[in-house]
Amino acid sequence: MVVDEWARVVRHRSVAAGIYSISLEVPVIAAEAWPGQFVQLRLSDGIEPLLRMPLSIADARPDVGEIELLYECVGPKTEALSEIRIDTRLACLGPLGHGFTWPDSAHPSILVGGGIGLPPLLFLGRRLRAAGYAAVLLTGARTGEKHLPVAWLNPAASRVMQSTDDGTLGHAGLVTGLLDAELDDVAYPMVYSCGPRGMMAAVARNCRVRGIPCQVSLEEYMACGIGICAGCTVPVHRSDAGTHSAYGRYERVCVAGPVFDATIIDWDG
Ligand SMILES: Cc1cc2nc3c(=O)[nH]c(=O)nc-3n(C[C@H](O)[C@H](O)[C@H](O)COP(=O)(O)OP(=O)(O)OC[C@H]3O[C@@H](n4cnc5c(N)ncnc54)[C@H](O)[C@@H]3O)c2cc1C
Repeated sequence: MVVDEWARVVRHRSVAAGIYSISLEVPVIAAEAWPGQFVQLRLSDGIEPLLRMPLSIADARPDVGEIELLYECVGPKTEALSEIRIDTRLACLGPLGHGFTWPDSAHPSILVGGGIGLPPLLFLGRRLRAAGYAAVLLTGARTGEKHLPVAWLNPAASRVMQSTDDGTLGHAGLVTGLLDAELDDVAYPMVYSCGPRGMMAAVARNCRVRGIPCQVSLEEYMACGIGICAGCTVPVHRSDAGTHSAYGRYERVCVAGPVFDATIIDWDG
């Protein structure tokens, strides 16, 4: 059930350079949310910003009626959100979209996050572990100060490995380098990924070559978030990829995704 809840800001803090965690009291969304789903936040009652902002659910706690979102300040909407104080109320539409599906077997899952693509994987890792699955988290960032503290990551995986493009923390190089080593070691994993498109394309390619199943969460530019404007379509290989595929070779990320089987996406399209 999708609802537009009047969310109260419960906590709001900086967790890494330019990256914030905000916790919202939204009992209905918290009870319904599934890893990979997102919310659309309205940041103002005025004209600006006009559109709501999509953010993935980084955790949901039905017991206290809260969800957590993690975001990086990159422009007007995220800057506006960073100014919002505790006890402010925001319209929060969700949970939206289709989330991740469980692994086919009890084999460990490998979660590969790049940059601010991490939030849906943190929620997924917590729920996988609660359901008795093993999960390894591989996370990459441009530089060390953009990484969330390991204590923040630990609940999502039994093992966490970090990489940085500039070598200031963890493995020096791309997170796909960590994935290659992991795929050599772990038998029959399910791979889950979210991050920059180029990174997810590389993850999808590595998995396809090895015959390993992979699910990706796409974060395309998005306007309505509920399938009306078709502003978030992506090219796909099959026209029956999702449940709302009246768009031929394209799928709307907001309703058919944001999570897709990686083999369905036309990464070169
Ligand atoms: C389903 C979904 C889930 C998302 N989850 C998160 C999340 O958990 N945390 C988070 O920080 N962000 C997330 N995003 C992205 C977030 O919505 C955008 O960063 C935000 O809308 C930017 O708004 P802005 O006005 O601050 O910046 P804008 O001025 O709109 O953008 C600033 C710059 O950021 C880049 N950018 C903005 N949006 C995107 C995008 N969708 N894809 C690629 N590049 C982009 C562009 O380079 C742009 O120049 C998600 C997006 C989607 C569609």
